[in-house]
Amino acid sequence: MNQRRVWIADGCIECFWCQQLDERIFVRGPSGTEISGWARVDGRTSTNQQEQAPLNEERLSESELNFIRFIADGCPVKVIHLEGESMGSALLVAG
Ligand code: SF4
Repeated sequence: MNQRRVWIADGCIECFWCQQLDERIFVRGPSGTEISGWARVDGRTSTNQQEQAPLNEERLSESELNFIRFIADGCPVKVIHLEGESMGSALLVAG
């Protein structure tokens, strides 16, 4: 199964857009936005850039998963990366 992932690349300017729209997934870390452990299968809170842990789809509704695309598209510096079934194709930033 193609599991869905979200991670934050370097360069977050801490505008808080993503955190305001979904504070269950996007949380404030010491140097920018991180992906909450609550929303990940590995339970860790970090940018998820290294771990590439899938989202915990048992906790997230389909509409919330789809909403991540909208949130990523609104990131002013495009550092929210998406991957996986029905998530990445339209918004995945190269690199
Ligand atoms: S929307 Fe982008 S720049 Fe703004 S806080 Fe979220 S990851 Fe950082």
